[in-house]
Amino acid sequence: MTDPRLEIRNIRRRFQGREVVSDVSLKVMPGQVTCLLGPSGCGKSTTLRIIAGVDMQDEGEIYVDGELVCDTVFRVPPEQRSIGMMFQDFALFPHLSVAENVAFGLNGHKSDKRARVEELLDKVGLLSAVDKYPHELSGGEQQRIALARALAPRPSIMLMDEPFSGLDERLKDDIRDSTLDVLKSENTAVLLVTHEPHEAMRMADEIALMRDGRIVQQGAPYNIYNAPVDRKAAAFFSDIN
Ligand code: ADP
Ligand code: MG
Repeated sequence: MTDPRLEIRNIRRRFQGREVVSDVSLKVMPGQVTCLLGPSGCGKSTTLRIIAGVDMQDEGEIYVDGELVCDTVFRVPPEQRSIGMMFQDFALFPHLSVAENVAFGLNGHKSDKRARVEELLDKVGLLSAVDKYPHELSGGEQQRIALARALAPRPSIMLMDEPFSGLDERLKDDIRDSTLDVLKSENTAVLLVTHEPHEAMRMADEIALMRDGRIVQQGAPYNIYNAPVDRKAAAFFSDIN
């Protein structure tokens, strides 16, 4: 049995006495995209922020590669969790070139770093942009550079929070598909947050359907789509585009 790259157990988070994440448990396996899918306000981003270490749970544990990184008394800082992140606001460093942006999180010899940068730029199809600056690139191109930057240090787990929401509607599916190709070629474990069933169906190996802070159903996309757990879940999938 392969071990999960990420496991969270019984996570709870309250804000001003109101519980917004209620007993959420999840595993993400190597090479798999697990999608946390649910309507706006159901607690997806809060869950991701807790895993990233920029917020803290009131209860529960987080494991990366089988190692405890956070419970209620012990906490590994975000930058030491081997976590890559891509959020909607994926801003590149404007004063750094594309190569410098992608190399940002890398340590080691200059030649090794250069090789890794070129490998990733090739994978995202932007090797020709290596010496450009962010303002010279389109939104979609900047998005691909942000993906390369996040993957460069080979994070154990990649967290993506609505990473395509700022993009032109007509480009989204192409970018989803090419992003998925890159993630698969790197064998990355991904936890993808989205409120769009279509995106989850297109990208996920596993869907965790979230509502009011809880995971109400979990399984393969096909199974969730075909056998929604209740009327609300069915309605949520019915307006799929
Ligand atoms: P989602 O990402 O699914 O849209 P969020 O995790 O952002 O949902 O938010 C879940 C709920 O928690 C919302 O009702 C939101 O208003 C509330 N919330 C999120 N962050 C905070 C905070 N820092 N303080 C108080 N309430 C918050
Ligand atoms: Mg959110």
